[in-house]
Amino acid sequence: MRLILLGPPGAGKGTQAQRLVEKHGIVQLSTGDMLRAAVKAGTSVGLRAKDIMDRGELVPDDIVVAIVSDRIAQPDARKGFILDGFPRTVPQAVALGRMLKEKGLKLDGVIELKVDPGILLKRIENRIAEAKARGETLRSDDDPEKLKRRVEIYHDQTAPLVDYYRLEGALKTVDGMASIPEVAGAIDRALGGSSKSSPKAAARKSAEKKAVPKKPAAKKAVSRAAAKGARKSLAKRGSKMARAGKAAGRAGKAGSAARR
Ligand code: ADP
Repeated sequence: MRLILLGPPGAGKGTQAQRLVEKHGIVQLSTGDMLRAAVKAGTSVGLRAKDIMDRGELVPDDIVVAIVSDRIAQPDARKGFILDGFPRTVPQAVALGRMLKEKGLKLDGVIELKVDPGILLKRIENRIAEAKARGETLRSDDDPEKLKRRVEIYHDQTAPLVDYYRLEGALKTVDGMASIPEVAGAIDRALGGSSKSSPKAAARKSAEKKAVPKKPAAKKAVSRAAAKGARKSLAKRGSKMARAGKAAGRAGKAGSAARR
């Protein structure tokens, strides 16, 4: 199983990734963790990334693309992986698509954890306060100002990936505002596996289904036409994004070649 988890800082990607790792026996590939390890080890990538990460900005695409490309080629990723924090830009998504194709691999899905932007900062501030109370060392970018910047960057550079993957037909959106087990169940259902959802939730779902009246045929035709129009305009945007991405993809290739 090969998955991408998409969502802003504080959406719960790490928590859900860990559970998916256990459930499916796959590895979690967090570019944030890999970069932090590089910073700690003082490698050349770490030296380049440190200040950028401390500001809450994005590390250049060529660096992260090279890291991921090396990492997914390792034996423990053969059974599958879950990408957490990558791709974060359209060029990274294009580069990922290319590297998977070259390796003859396919994505099983892109899970978007949708959260209300208004509560994001509050959530992360709570997380920081809890970590402090437990006496844990905080990440150098875990402070309110840098967090704001990380959320802004998510909206500017990463949120367009929602449309990108929707267009590819890979997107599965899950409500990230629900409790951890509820989000986990929704992810399982989105992936088509056993959801192990509580009987209560199943009953609620079937009641909701019954309560929603079927659309009359005429309305269906109208919404089909509207969907077609929307797909067309997204396709236009998508190909524009892909063109922009190609250039960065080339840069990515050059980056990883330079490292060899
Ligand atoms: P968050 O909890 O904000 O989602 P991460 O642990 O995923 O944070 O990432 C921390 C930092 O590492 C980011 O703010 C960014 O500087 C850098 N980083 C991680 N992944 C990427 C990526 N795919 N592209 C560029 N920069 C990245």
